Amino acid sequence: MNDEYLSRGYLTIDEIKEITELPSEERLKKKPVAVPECPQEIPCTPCSEICPVGAISMPTPNDRPIVDYDKCIGCSLCVQICPGLAFFMIHYRGEKARITMPHELLPVPKRGDEVILLNRKGEEIGTGKVVLVIPRDKSVGDTPVLTVEVPIELAWEARAVRVKEARE
Ligand code: SF4
Ligand code: SF4
Repeated sequence: MNDEYLSRGYLTIDEIKEITELPSEERLKKKPVAVPECPQEIPCTPCSEICPVGAISMPTPNDRPIVDYDKCIGCSLCVQICPGLAFFMIHYRGEKARITMPHELLPVPKRGDEVILLNRKGEEIGTGKVVLVIPRDKSVGDTPVLTVEVPIELAWEARAVRVKEARE
């Protein structure tokens, strides 16, 4: 993959497919599964170190993380600990998908809130509903983690949220 994403500031879905194989539709329907969107080959290993089931492989610290989707138990620890905000979990549930994502913006929404969905560019693409909030846990990482229910067609686009009241 070339490094155009560095000046652009975000990855496209085609670039993500170049760096990692995505889970099958069958796996996505089964239970939440973690997917790394981590392009840089830099010495960084917290995700593979914290995974309780050894699902994240990284032969050397400079390699990109690769997830064994059959091993992943959907604990979200990799999402919580990644300093690059590069791990997400995805779960297909009928016409909706649940996306588990880091949330660095303030305020942090509450469970049940309707929020504005943002794509990787930061553009608004619709609305979703927060179904779980994991507050910041300093023993794991610095970032609160949200699970947000989104229309299934936005499952590979929605990667951040904005609280509605924050700009009203
Ligand atoms: S969600 Fe948990 S089990 Fe799955 S890859 Fe991340 S740390 Fe490992
Ligand atoms: S912790 Fe995050 S930035 Fe570091 S290798 Fe893992 S996915 Fe990439």
